[in-house]
Amino acid sequence: MIDVAEALRRIQRSSVIVQPRRVRIEDAVGLRLQEDVTSDTDSPPWHRSMMDGFAVISKDFVDSLDCKQAVPLQVVAEIGAGEMTASVLERGQCIRIMTGAPMPTGADAVIPIERAVSGTSHAHAGEQVSLQDPHFCCGQHVSEKGSFFCAGQTVICHGVELEPVHIGLAAEVGASHVVATAPPRVSIITTGNELVPSYQAPVKGQIRNTNEPMLSAAVARCGAEPIPMGIASDHPEPLRALIAQGLAADVLLLSGGVSTGDYDLVPKTLENIGVECVFHKVCLKPGKPIWFGVLQRPAASPTLVFGLPGNPVSTLVCFELFVRPALEKISGKSLFSQDLDQQTARLTNSVQGSRDRPVYHPCQLELGDSGLLAKTLPWGGSADLLALSLANGLLVVPKECGGFVRGEMVQVIPLVSRFRDKSE
Ligand code: AMP
Ligand code: MG
Repeated sequence: MIDVAEALRRIQRSSVIVQPRRVRIEDAVGLRLQEDVTSDTDSPPWHRSMMDGFAVISKDFVDSLDCKQAVPLQVVAEIGAGEMTASVLERGQCIRIMTGAPMPTGADAVIPIERAVSGTSHAHAGEQVSLQDPHFCCGQHVSEKGSFFCAGQTVICHGVELEPVHIGLAAEVGASHVVATAPPRVSIITTGNELVPSYQAPVKGQIRNTNEPMLSAAVARCGAEPIPMGIASDHPEPLRALIAQGLAADVLLLSGGVSTGDYDLVPKTLENIGVECVFHKVCLKPGKPIWFGVLQRPAASPTLVFGLPGNPVSTLVCFELFVRPALEKISGKSLFSQDLDQQTARLTNSVQGSRDRPVYHPCQLELGDSGLLAKTLPWGGSADLLALSLANGLLVVPKECGGFVRGEMVQVIPLVSRFRDKSE
């Protein structure tokens, strides 16, 4: 049976950064863009009115004694945002226009509605308006077609970390999807005839499915995307069918069914479907039955497959030791370290070891005056989730060491977020 360090070495060798993929822009905020986004349109797409008012011909105003005099004009049409008009403006005419509407042909400026001489501001098509704008300038209140950017222009560059403003810009230029480095997708399948969903009351012989919500949460904590796939019964065909679906993700996590019992069908099923076994069983407690393998995919990084033991403490300890480093590496967040994130602490009680396996014992870590202090918690073993919930670290008792007594220096693995929460 291989040890933890060798298991980590093999996982590291199999873990490659997931390739960028096409993501809906609604899901892309925070991701790093891996392909330029170019515009399919000019912006603005046409000359556009920036005011509610009257679209006019500048010359009518420039000619009116330096714009000081009111200019009477015939309103020939009306145009709101989202509308078009076929009317072509001629001298002495204007068109009633709203903010956001395309400028009609012939018009080159907008006089705001407030500049209509009193009593004429309500003038509609067929009526007269009198406009007086002492500060008139040619082309005023018109946003020119293509003045922000032009069709074909790159508007968001490869490498940018997408903020909400970029999502808006992508929407403006017609990019419904972008190519970005996205968090790995992680399918989660829990196995066992005895499992019922956690919202359901179990009858005798049944237990609630603890591992699906727990693994989903652990995956999300790593910044990856959990895809809970429900419960597979311990029958070859439904298990095979669910696994086949789960293998489309970057990582497939299974819980249960990896030991040597009559109903432990996971390793065989995975191998039958083409997943290559990299190791089965690691020398540690809890978590010994863990299975790990790889499915090569044609134009994508390989799918990593972890068969985690079903007992919830074993499941979570294996997640912390083996799955989390793999997720961090394939997300490009960290180099994979074969040395677990271990620290040294002084033990404040005593703890027993196991002859044949290293034990990862739930413990409480605390910063004392002269460094980290560790105290193991009473622990009922691989199904005692309450004990693990009170812990913020794992204390490593190497195999054959017999144990430690109060005052000895020991190796501990902080359970990152909770240790940070408590010490802050
Ligand atoms: P297994 O690894 O399938 O042999 O399961 C080992 C133990 O873990 C059994 O007592 C199972 O009932 C329990 N177990 C398996 N899967 C889950 C789960 N999803 N949630 C809670 N307990 C589980
Ligand atoms: Mg089972």
